[in-house]
Amino acid sequence: MAPEIEIYDTTLRDGTQGEGVAFSVADKLRIAERLDAFGVHYIEGGWPGSNPRDIEFFAEARHHTFKNARLAAFGSTRRKDVAAAADDQVQLLIAAETPVVTIFGKTSPLHVREVLQTTLDENLKMIADTVRFLKANGKFVVYDAEHCFDGFKEDTPYALATLHAAEKAGADIVTLCDTNGGSLPADIAAITRLVRGELRARIGIHTHDDIGLGVANALAAIEAGATHVQGTINGYGERTGNCNMTSVMPILHFKLNRRGVPAESLPLLTELSQFVDETANLRPNPRLPWVGSSAFSHKGGTHVNAVAKVLSSYEHVNPASVGNTRHVLISDLAGRSNIIMKARELGFDLANDAHLRTLLAAIKEMEHRGYEFEAADGSLTLLIRRVLSKAPPPFTVDAYHVSMRSDGARPSVCEATVKVRVGTERAHTVADGDGPVNALDAALRAALVTFYRQLGAVRLTDYKVRIIDSASGTAATTRVLIQTTDGASEWGTIGVHENIIEASLQALADSLEVALIKSAAIV
Ligand SMILES: [Zn+2]
Repeated sequence: MAPEIEIYDTTLRDGTQGEGVAFSVADKLRIAERLDAFGVHYIEGGWPGSNPRDIEFFAEARHHTFKNARLAAFGSTRRKDVAAAADDQVQLLIAAETPVVTIFGKTSPLHVREVLQTTLDENLKMIADTVRFLKANGKFVVYDAEHCFDGFKEDTPYALATLHAAEKAGADIVTLCDTNGGSLPADIAAITRLVRGELRARIGIHTHDDIGLGVANALAAIEAGATHVQGTINGYGERTGNCNMTSVMPILHFKLNRRGVPAESLPLLTELSQFVDETANLRPNPRLPWVGSSAFSHKGGTHVNAVAKVLSSYEHVNPASVGNTRHVLISDLAGRSNIIMKARELGFDLANDAHLRTLLAAIKEMEHRGYEFEAADGSLTLLIRRVLSKAPPPFTVDAYHVSMRSDGARPSVCEATVKVRVGTERAHTVADGDGPVNALDAALRAALVTFYRQLGAVRLTDYKVRIIDSASGTAATTRVLIQTTDGASEWGTIGVHENIIEASLQALADSLEVALIKSAAIV
C-alpha cells in the first residue's frame, strides 16, 4: 500500500550541517541501512556537488540494495546562463546513479536578484531546464522550493510561477521549504493550502526549528494538504536544527492516525534515535520528546503515586509504543510509592514493609549527605540489593594509594596502587593514568579483571564532578557521577565525599559491581 504521508529523511545531508555532526562514509552507510530497515521512503544521502565524501558515499551505496527506501542525491538548479547538461554540479547528480534526485531552486525574487544576481525569468528557466534534464535522464525528481514561505509573502504570483515551472517540467514532488525556520504554523498552513489548490504534484514540506516550530510547521502543512515531509532524526541540522522526524513519525501514527512508516517500526524509534546519536558520537538529549530518557520520567510524589495506580494518568502514550521506558526518579521530594515503583523498574519486589522502611531511611540519609540517585540507577540498585540480601560484596577495596609527580619539563604522571579482596583471595596492582582518577580506575580494573574477565569489556563513558555544599554548610563536598557501559547497556553510579579521589573510587567501585550483576557473575 502506498504511504499516505511520505517520510523523506535528510539526516545524512541537511542533518550533517548541524554543529558537532560529522559522519564518515561507513557511518552514512550504516545509518542509511537502519533508516531503510525502519521504513522511511526516501534517504537523502548527500550533496555530491559540495564534497567528495558524498560522491564516495553514492559510489559505495550502489552496492547496497535498499528494501524500503529510495536513495536521493541532493543538488541545486543549474547555474545561470549555462545549459543544464553542461553544468558540472548537475552532472554529478546524474553520476550519483540514484533513482531520486532532489534539487533546490529559488522562490523569492529578493534571492534571485540579490543572491543569484540574475533575472526573474532566467531563474524560471534554471528551474525548468534542470528538472527537464533530470527527467530526461530517468530520474524521479523532488523539487525543493527554497525560502518558499518568505517568497510567497514577498511576491505570491512569482513564487507560484517558480513552482509551476518545476511542475510543468515534470517534477514529481514540489517541496515547500521554510529555509530560515522563522515561519508560523498559520502562515505555513495558508500558503500550503494555496499551493495545494494550484498544483497537481505531491506537495512536500521541509521546515527548520529556528523558533521551536519545526515539527509544528510540518504538521500544519500536512493538515493543509502536504503528503511528503522532510526532516532529520533527532532534529539534527543547521543552527537549532531541522524538523525532528523522531517526533513527526510517532505524531502521524499516534495522534493523527495517518499512515507514514509501518506501524511495527514505531517500537524501534528510541533505538533508532540512540543509534544515530551514537554513530554521530553525540550524547543523547534526555529531553527529546518521545525518545529522550526523560520523556517518560516521573519525579514528583503525586505523579508517581498516580502513575502507580493508572499508567495513563501522567503519560500521553505508553512509552513502550515508541521503544522508550518509564523511569521513576528518586528524590527526597517523593515518598514510598516512588521507591516501590523504582524498585519494581529495577526488578525488585519491596513487599516487605520493614525493608521498605530501611531503604527509605537510607536514601533520605544519603540524599541529606549529597547523594542524588536520579542519574545513578546503578548505585541505587546496589543499595536496594544490600537491604534485601545478605550476600557478601563481590569485592572489597582494602587499601589504595594515589600519587602524582612532575619534573616541570614533562607532563605530570599519576600512579595508583590498589589492594582488593575477592573472597579469600587478594590482588595488589599498580597502574599509570592521565590523572589520579584515571590511574585509580586502571589499577582497580586490572586487579578485578584477574577474577572477573568480563570486566575487560566495560568502559567509562562519562565522568562528572560537582562541588556541593554539605548539609551542615561547614565543608565543601564533592559529588562524582560516572556513566559506564558494557556495550549493551549503560548505567550511572555516584560517589560523595569531601575528597574527590574517595568520591571517585566509590562511584568506580559501584560501576564495576553493577557490571558484575549485569553479566550475572554475581547474583
Ligand atoms: Zn534545510
